[in-house]
Amino acid sequence: MSEIAIDATRCGFIAILGAPNVGKSTLLNRLVGTKVSIVSPKVQTTRSRVLGIVLRGPAQIIFIDTPGIFTPRRRLDRAMVGAAWGGASDADAVLLLIDAVRGIDKDSRAIVDRLKTSGRRALLALNKIDLVPKPKLLDLASTLDAEGIFNHIYMISAATGDGVEELLGELDELVAPGPWMFPEDQVSDMPMRLLAAEITREKLFLQLHQELPYAATVETETWDDRKDGSAAIEQVIYVRRESQRAIILGHKGARIKSIGAAARLELEEILEKRVHLFLFVKVREKWEDDPERYRDWGLDFNA
Ligand code: GDP
Ligand code: MG
Repeated sequence: MSEIAIDATRCGFIAILGAPNVGKSTLLNRLVGTKVSIVSPKVQTTRSRVLGIVLRGPAQIIFIDTPGIFTPRRRLDRAMVGAAWGGASDADAVLLLIDAVRGIDKDSRAIVDRLKTSGRRALLALNKIDLVPKPKLLDLASTLDAEGIFNHIYMISAATGDGVEELLGELDELVAPGPWMFPEDQVSDMPMRLLAAEITREKLFLQLHQELPYAATVETETWDDRKDGSAAIEQVIYVRRESQRAIILGHKGARIKSIGAAARLELEEILEKRVHLFLFVKVREKWEDDPERYRDWGLDFNA
């Protein structure tokens, strides 16, 4: 009886590739049905590889949300791009996401070319169709179809959910027979401490302007599950300069209070318990050159 059940299961990885900001994290969260990857209107918010695990009947579909692929300059960028292509080569199938508003920009062009030279076929999803008139969408689809590397082209809106169920249904069929790799209630491989830090980082992106969030990193230092059912979490936001610290704190601490409140609300929703969140802001000039940060994010320092 149980042997039949094991034989019937299927399991596989699907890598979601795409330029920064095309909606990869939004799609992943929608597929999984809960937040596993942070989303912001700014580029390059996803720092490392994030897994989202979806169960559909006997199939376990493991999605890899990769950091947007772009031309790397700094060490951190190189590590992120390395992680993205690493995710693609490990996967059973590659789903390329293109922002239907932006069309084929330089970043998307580079990914299509690299897929071509690697001889890898992919699935294509045109995202944000809620913002684009039909004729423009069909034009874009036929231009991309001519590249000759896409097995199928989907039209979706990760934001509204339009077309996502159909996409998932077809991805489901690509997943090969095999045992599940994760327990059935697991939705991500990201440790809670890291997800909690990512949520605070997302609020930095949403509440601060311009470059500052890129200069910051967040770490969960302590996590105490208290007897009364609540959790006390201490996090440190590292910035490079004293002036950045002052901005994050805000006038009389107003900014950090508001960032903390937003992060706490979301954590309480995800954890389904009361959360006491304590945020500290510290200056560490060269946090980006610290190999330990990279290990925490699952990135390769030497990429
Ligand atoms: P990523 O960098 O590829 O992971 O992109 P994100 O998931 O962080 O999304 C980038 C921005 O696009 C965010 O502001 C999202 O809310 C927005 N977005 C994503 N998908 C859609 C969509 O289908 N329609 C619209 N209108 N916006 C979207
Ligand atoms: Mg992302």
